[in-house]
Amino acid sequence: MNEVAKNIVETKIKKLRSGTPIKEFNNNKLAEVEINKFFYNGSMIDRVMVVLRANGCEHYKTNGGCSMCAHYNGTSINNIVTDRNYKKQWDSVLDGTGIEKKDYNFNIDNFPVVCIYNLGSFLNVNEISLEAAKYIFSKLNEHAGVKKAIIESRAEYINDETINNIKSVYSNTIEVGIGVESTNNKIRELCHHKGLDDLKIIKTAVEILHKYNCKALAYINLKPVFLTEQEAIDDAIQTCLDCIEMGFDAISIEPTSLQEHSLANYMYEIGEYRVPWLWSIRDILNEVYKKTGLQSYDFRIGGYFDEEVLSGSQGVGFEGKNELFPHLTSSNCSICTPNFVNKIKEFNCTYDIACLNDIQKCEHCYSIWEETKKIKDSRKIEQRIIDVLGDDYANKM
Ligand code: SF4
Ligand SMILES: [Zn+2]
Repeated sequence: MNEVAKNIVETKIKKLRSGTPIKEFNNNKLAEVEINKFFYNGSMIDRVMVVLRANGCEHYKTNGGCSMCAHYNGTSINNIVTDRNYKKQWDSVLDGTGIEKKDYNFNIDNFPVVCIYNLGSFLNVNEISLEAAKYIFSKLNEHAGVKKAIIESRAEYINDETINNIKSVYSNTIEVGIGVESTNNKIRELCHHKGLDDLKIIKTAVEILHKYNCKALAYINLKPVFLTEQEAIDDAIQTCLDCIEMGFDAISIEPTSLQEHSLANYMYEIGEYRVPWLWSIRDILNEVYKKTGLQSYDFRIGGYFDEEVLSGSQGVGFEGKNELFPHLTSSNCSICTPNFVNKIKEFNCTYDIACLNDIQKCEHCYSIWEETKKIKDSRKIEQRIIDVLGDDYANKM
């Protein structure tokens, strides 16, 4: 790994993060609650997604975080969320008092799948203590209507202690989403700035989850900065194949979207980055099915669900986008994107690739996308980094 290139990326990310406005949030209040459509056990269901106001990702605080992520925008910077705060937030989900949409008759038992996100790693004890995590799952266990809980964690925090802590008090399924991003070390470290240079940590995490009868979900980020469209497609395909090989039970392909104060957003602003084309997502899924011979698999396309916001830090119902909302998501041209997005939502509720394959070639952009895929960059990734960010870095030295 080229340490100079890595330093350049990290220095730039940290500089961008320093521009994140200092926000203070009420630590007893949830960051967001939304209902979205989801495919579960062969049919479309409503799932509830709870975003806890939390202490924020440690990788972000220590190293600047990943190049495409700005979840920290939703974290109280000078204000520690305590166990007491987490418990209050969670109680407000279970008793419905945390639901701002007052005409909504919320009952968690109506949702077979519940996501409990914390804009970081649920299993990092520096973000959520063992006690708070245990409390959340022991209380959830009293709600038999919920069949599956989904949390997210970096791989290094998945161990016997953290999994046993929640599994010992929860009898239904726990699925843990792990940010793999790419199984190519150079891409993961330089382009994603993941700070996880050993794939073995991910493999071990999957094994531990399976040992405790938990499910492993891989998040794969499609098109980090510094890759061409075709390189990004190839990387996502290979990463899907590797994740299936490693035993992941499900994969969510996460096309890069743009949030303020991220490196991806900066690269977009200086004309060095375009979010991935939606056509590319279809390529990836088809190729993975072809290469594996699988007839079906639990593939999701992250970020595309029909949702109803019940609570959010800036009000309910999208009248104001909150601090977590991306300002630009993966797209084709303005003519065909809305239909494509609807088809992705349909795919996410059926896992039927025909939803995507039925989409007709767009006369306005399909050929542009095909031409885009032919663009090559003969430079090594390290050189691309130096060419775009090197001057900025040199001026800091
Ligand atoms: S993607 Fe995950 S690990 Fe990376 S900065 Fe965001 S929350 Fe942290
Ligand atoms: Zn189009």
